[in-house]
Amino acid sequence: MMCYSLKINSNWKLKYEGILLKYDYPDKYGRFGKFGGQYVPEVLMPVIQELTGAYEKHKKSASFKDELSYYLKDYAGRPTPLYFARRLTERLGGPKIYIKREDLAHGGAHKINNTLGQVLLAKKMGKTRVIAETGAGQHGIATAMAASMFGLKCEIYMGTEDMERQKLNVFRMELMGAELHPVSSGTKRLKDAIDDAMRDWVTNVETTYYVIGSVVGPHPYPMMVRDFQSVIGKETKQQIMEKENRLPDAIVACIGGGSNAMGIFYNFIENEEVGLIGVEAGGLGPEPGKHGATLCYGTEGALHGSYSYVLQNGSGQILDSHSIAAGLDYPGVGPEPAFLKSIGRLKAVSITDAEAVKGFQLLCETEGILPALESAHAIAYTEKIAKNYDKNQIVVINLSGRGDKDVEVVAKYLSK
Ligand SMILES: *Cc1c(COP(=O)(O)O)cnc(C)c1O
Repeated sequence: MMCYSLKINSNWKLKYEGILLKYDYPDKYGRFGKFGGQYVPEVLMPVIQELTGAYEKHKKSASFKDELSYYLKDYAGRPTPLYFARRLTERLGGPKIYIKREDLAHGGAHKINNTLGQVLLAKKMGKTRVIAETGAGQHGIATAMAASMFGLKCEIYMGTEDMERQKLNVFRMELMGAELHPVSSGTKRLKDAIDDAMRDWVTNVETTYYVIGSVVGPHPYPMMVRDFQSVIGKETKQQIMEKENRLPDAIVACIGGGSNAMGIFYNFIENEEVGLIGVEAGGLGPEPGKHGATLCYGTEGALHGSYSYVLQNGSGQILDSHSIAAGLDYPGVGPEPAFLKSIGRLKAVSITDAEAVKGFQLLCETEGILPALESAHAIAYTEKIAKNYDKNQIVVINLSGRGDKDVEVVAKYLSK
């Protein structure tokens, strides 16, 4: 399912020169063009202003940067390798394929890059308690890890429906000292957990820092999470220059909220020759409720504090989403990917559950790497477009996480 044509429309270049030659987003209102902003109840504004001020101050400080670099290296295991996937390249018979190995980061995904940054910031702000929402549990675990390591109290909001489906992850969080708050309102899932976490934050603002898990939410979160994740693209640029002495022709990343994608894309936005491709969850098909492809099929609206694309019905009620990959099962998307799509700099596509499982198997067979089902969407799309490239061209896949967590789901899927 292709939903945005890479054939650049005639005024793209113009837009590019007008807007992108110097990419400097968001603006001071937290806007990426018309997207982003701070769509929150008034009671939240003081906390958000405190956070914005603290982030602006610490991100420029050498001691914050040094400390974060230290933890990214010695705790999270960075830099992660940029691996030339020789057998996958031969199998697909198209471009040279490189894989950015975020699956090798501590915890098995890119999420630790963000939680280390935010929990360190919480500590610098003098907070003693962090809270977070989690869907499948990946962000909850990454937050619990960082909180445990920095010695802060950690409480996680999770829908009871998700807790039931992800019992092992609940236990993992508890092992790391996190306290779980089951959320049984609404659909009993991620969207409802975010609402409850926000309520907690307003009530306990003195002591508490809210760690958001993707490039979503009110400003400054989309910017802050992107900045923390941009280490992925910074490394990738350096590594591809060392190995190939040129930039890739395209970078492919899956998009749930958009944090691993923005993380690898950000440092390439100004390099117009590098195609940026975001792969969303096509789920069971394009009908409402059957997928999580917000950039592809969503419409503009406000959700969880920012203006972006949303899966909603005519009256603005949020629709259910579906994906075989828990991390892509979200009816919203960050404002920055929405902006990049709207100006034609990002191509948004989708891959179905069935195609993703094939992508999962393909990487196992050719490279002995078990990808997360989320990342398998990027592999499956690369397989689809490989024939459009020649063997001197280069495509980088962001392997956002490892697939150990998904083996049972895949086994069940294949036995059907
Ligand atoms: C959470 C998760 C995602 C989706 O989140 P983004 O913010 O879109 O990156 C993708 N891959 C993995 C492995 C994840 O854990």
